[in-house]
Amino acid sequence: MRHEKSRELYQEAQDVIVGGVNSPSRSFKAVGGDYPIFMKRARGAYFWDEDDNRYIDYLGAFGPIILGHAHPHVTKAIQRAAENGVLYGTPTRLENQLARMLRDSISSCEKIRFVNSGTEAVMSSIRVARAYTGRDKIVKFSGCYHGHADLVLVAAGSGPSTLGVPDSAGIPESIARDVITVPYNDLSAFKQALKQWGDDIAAVLVEPIVGNFGIVMPEEGFLETVNEWTRKAGALVIYDEVITAFRFHYGGAQNLLNVFPDLTALGKIIGGGLPIGAYGGRADIMDNVAPLGPVYQAGTMAGNPASMAAGIACLETLSHPETYEHLERLGAMLESGIRQAADNVPDIPVQINRLGGALTVYFSREPIREYGAVERSDSERFAQFHQLMLKQGIYLAPSKYEAWFLTLAHTEEDVNVTISAVEKAFQRMCR
Ligand code: PMP
Repeated sequence: MRHEKSRELYQEAQDVIVGGVNSPSRSFKAVGGDYPIFMKRARGAYFWDEDDNRYIDYLGAFGPIILGHAHPHVTKAIQRAAENGVLYGTPTRLENQLARMLRDSISSCEKIRFVNSGTEAVMSSIRVARAYTGRDKIVKFSGCYHGHADLVLVAAGSGPSTLGVPDSAGIPESIARDVITVPYNDLSAFKQALKQWGDDIAAVLVEPIVGNFGIVMPEEGFLETVNEWTRKAGALVIYDEVITAFRFHYGGAQNLLNVFPDLTALGKIIGGGLPIGAYGGRADIMDNVAPLGPVYQAGTMAGNPASMAAGIACLETLSHPETYEHLERLGAMLESGIRQAADNVPDIPVQINRLGGALTVYFSREPIREYGAVERSDSERFAQFHQLMLKQGIYLAPSKYEAWFLTLAHTEEDVNVTISAVEKAFQRMCR
């Protein structure tokens, strides 16, 4: 497989774009690659690079692409929106429609506000929680990534950890001091934090199912206890469902797990691949946002017609009953194929975490239930695996901290091809 054009484009990019990429997670540095692959076209479960190599895509654009690329219903909705003018700066009917679809499927979101990214959704939820409680501190869990706002880049997950910078430069100590970080699934550390700082805590922020150090499930009672202790302390519970909403079923992970927050941050899938974010929650809390209340939050592009139309089309398609059955069936197939391949190479210890159509393969002997275990997992093996898969036309996220995402467009044939590629990769890694 030749990558001449990607190599050339990367040279050119480095000259004008910082590091040659517009998001560090796209870099191949963590997997030892000299350049990232430049894609030029995508359809269904595949994309094609500038050298016309085809790949089965398990990146899913880091989450939003759940229907597959260029799904006709979404494409038509975007075309129609573009023909009617892409931005008005006035309210539109489409905003009401998507907001109602979200409220109907994520019941804790009584009132909603659209923003442009997951980062903004989390940042705004925290602002609301701070205003509502009159407190400053937040609790987050190590390895959970919540976007790149100052406050949540403390002990953050996938992107920053991959590059070996747990905290970003440029964040004042005074801000970092307002963030308490505890390990995921560690209730005794969590309770300790609440005992120590409970009266100062505005919100506890958590991914109800982790997507940012691979797929990690909350253990029995974890979220329930987080909710109970947080509320007892007079703080608000914020679920970051930017990855999880509509990923595993039609609605939030909160509905799936039957445990509900006060506020929810949304993004990715709800925009059908166009820029979007949203936050929502209890009406009495959300009504603190301008123009009703004193919390300021705004956006020129927020609720823009193209993102709304793409989001509506995406959710309409996802609402068909067979959607999540398909993702579960292919997910189970992929998991069992990778497990069998791993069983044939006992020298390579592998852990697989999966829920529905999302999974992560870790090169580790220990089960993965918190971030430290992912840090300790074998980065070199992952880098080698990534390269061997890429050469066989299988595109995985270039980081051991990311999940594989299946889409509605993936077929059994794609999964079988992928399993054969995994078998070959594992065999090569043994030598
Ligand atoms: N929260 C979570 C759980 C995320 O996974 C991400 C992005 N990967 C964000 C927030 C930030 O979203 P965005 O990149 O759209 O700002």
